[in-house]
Amino acid sequence: MLGLMQDWPLLCHRIIDHAAEMHGNREVVSRSVEGPIHRTDYRTIRERSLKVAQRLDRMGVRVGDRIGTLAWNTWRHLEVWYGLLGVGAVYHTVNPRLFPDQIAYIVNHAEDRLMFTDLTFLPLVEKLAEHLPLLEKVIVLTDAANMPETGLANAVAYEDWLAEADGDFAWKTFDENTAAGMCYTSGTTGHPKGVVYSHRSNVLHSMAVNQPDMLGLSSRDIMMPVVPMFHANGWSIAFSAPMTGTTMVMPGAKMDGASIYELLDTEKVSVTAAVPTVWLMLLQFLDGSDHQLPHLERVIIGGAACPRAMTAAFQKKYDVDVLHAWGMTEMSPLGTICSLKPEYAGLEGDARLDIQEKQGHAPFSIEMKITDDYDIEQDWDGKTFGRLKVRGPAIAKAYFKGEGGEILDDAGYFDTGDVAHIDPYGYMQITDRAKDVIKSGGEWISTIDLENIAVGHPDVAEAAVIGVAHPKWDERPLLVVVAKDGCTPTRDGLIDYMQDKVAKWWLPNDVVVVDEIPHTATGKIQKTTLREQFKDYTFPDA
Ligand code: AMP
Repeated sequence: MLGLMQDWPLLCHRIIDHAAEMHGNREVVSRSVEGPIHRTDYRTIRERSLKVAQRLDRMGVRVGDRIGTLAWNTWRHLEVWYGLLGVGAVYHTVNPRLFPDQIAYIVNHAEDRLMFTDLTFLPLVEKLAEHLPLLEKVIVLTDAANMPETGLANAVAYEDWLAEADGDFAWKTFDENTAAGMCYTSGTTGHPKGVVYSHRSNVLHSMAVNQPDMLGLSSRDIMMPVVPMFHANGWSIAFSAPMTGTTMVMPGAKMDGASIYELLDTEKVSVTAAVPTVWLMLLQFLDGSDHQLPHLERVIIGGAACPRAMTAAFQKKYDVDVLHAWGMTEMSPLGTICSLKPEYAGLEGDARLDIQEKQGHAPFSIEMKITDDYDIEQDWDGKTFGRLKVRGPAIAKAYFKGEGGEILDDAGYFDTGDVAHIDPYGYMQITDRAKDVIKSGGEWISTIDLENIAVGHPDVAEAAVIGVAHPKWDERPLLVVVAKDGCTPTRDGLIDYMQDKVAKWWLPNDVVVVDEIPHTATGKIQKTTLREQFKDYTFPDA
């Protein structure tokens, strides 16, 4: 017997319909790439998205066609996403921080027909154009007045292109499992692989992360997604904010401390989200000023481990709650958030910070397990590490074009490549990437734990730990640090500082101070490069 409920496919463009109908006058404020602050609302975003859809339809864009975007977070990027979704085309966010040859690879691999680009990236597209034979048109996200001279034969200013449509158009409908978006993820080996979200997975994921224990957005919130839409499905905020009628503040191209502070302050942002690097810039900016953050209630920090010192600074100095989050491109992307369940909610001071170092618990629709090297499930005792595996309706089951082959185990779990433990209340804590974990005398040492402690030292701006070959122990930890301006951290000072914070056998065998630690295009520490840099290094005791 079947249920007798209506067939209502979970299509992403229904989200902007809802936002326009229920929260039509709620604002979307952007720092435009051209400079000035731009203000619009959900009703207007929907109207203009319909024009995008109509215009695409007229160009012959059909269900399943991939369309690239090289763009910052602005109202135009949002309109383009919904316009594409409304004709069944697939938004393919390209990360402009990748190497140009990687960009060419993924645009060709995805077979993008069109490219929507911000002014910032037009020179990049011009340079790559001869390597992108499938690209029929480049639509520059600006108006005629700001459109520069370009050698591209097929470029047009977005506002001119859009003006050719009147918006008298109806969204297409199709199966909810139809592809909605694509985001390439760069593994350490081989080419980047395409993760393909569906309409259904995006809608379910946004509903899951909108629960109060997760992002918990509401129509009273003012959300600034600093995380770019080209990182890991933009943390799904382009869906979860309109779904709840949350005001959006889009930071455009400027993510330095001063620019972010300015928007937090003038737009009275209540909740914001980004990787730790962004918050480091903001906190450094605030440090040298007497500014406060009176409007900001919570900050979501993920993409890399949130250092304890950062959580403490936000909470103690600025009275802003930190929500540590973990996820990955393959998970749409949010997996866990460290909101406090009753068991932990009453904790204060260091005890609270101890819990907030964890990446948190998963919402309904994400199942986790940890397994050892023999695929045996490990206990949730908050100590035993294992490979973290996940399954759910918004988690990848394969990569685009079958790259990488079979990626699920027999029970349908995806191996995240992270190593973690889970405590009895379901709080997961990442201890490492499987490939970064240090194996010393057969025991595992968490590089992330060591890094978190090292960045708590007052002289340290950034820290990375890598395993270096050791004749007795196979591998031992080497701590690499960048000094804060005007500070000179020393080996002995750091080891001494870490002494009572970890087991003795975890202490790094040596410390090296460098000018810079290499980062990937998504702002993560590039451990492969760092290991390469230190491949000839030998420990003093080796
Ligand atoms: P990406 O798909 O590029 O977002 O990368 C996902 C990976 O980033 C995860 O598998 C983790 O290794 C790492 N990651 C994300 N969030 C966190 C976090 N809060 N703490 C530690 N690592 C994280």
